[in-house]
Amino acid sequence: MRVATLIIGLVLSVGLFIQSVLVAGLSSLGDDKQMQASGAAGFWMAFLWVVAAALVIAFPRVSLVLFVLAALLGFAGADHFPDLWIWGSGSLILALFSYLGYLGKRHEQAKQDALLDTANAVRAALATPAIRSTPPRIPAAATQIYCSQCGAPNPTTARFCSACGERLDADALPGLDAGQADLR
Ligand SMILES: [Zn+2]
Repeated sequence: MRVATLIIGLVLSVGLFIQSVLVAGLSSLGDDKQMQASGAAGFWMAFLWVVAAALVIAFPRVSLVLFVLAALLGFAGADHFPDLWIWGSGSLILALFSYLGYLGKRHEQAKQDALLDTANAVRAALATPAIRSTPPRIPAAATQIYCSQCGAPNPTTARFCSACGERLDADALPGLDAGQADLR
């Protein structure tokens, strides 16, 4: 979209530039001040279009503003030179193109960000030992087991209670406090 806007903007700039040269040249022969003003408006529109087209890839929102400015310039000069209505309308369409290009750019950016996020998530997951090892015996949420003898919390990897030295076997279920463990 932005490439299309770039090309169309440049092509139209050339067209408008040529017409402006003709209008300004003819009007200077006839010494028509109004036509000269319209020719000048056309020059400025063509200039704005070239700049806007040049910026549309990197800064589509700037191009949008420039195309709108060019359109206003065209409409302002259209009183004496009706062709500027057409050029002005074309400029508004190019402004719309720029906006679509901006949306497209934002969409691409979002897609890239999402890809990056996914890549980072995968990398983080691969770096996490839990993914590399076999599924744990206990739910991932439980990070501790409680000693069946004294109720002290111990890491799930511990084989003996760190507080009383009791062997931590399958009876020491995760997440149970001392009282519940005693009831079993
Ligand atoms: Zn213990």
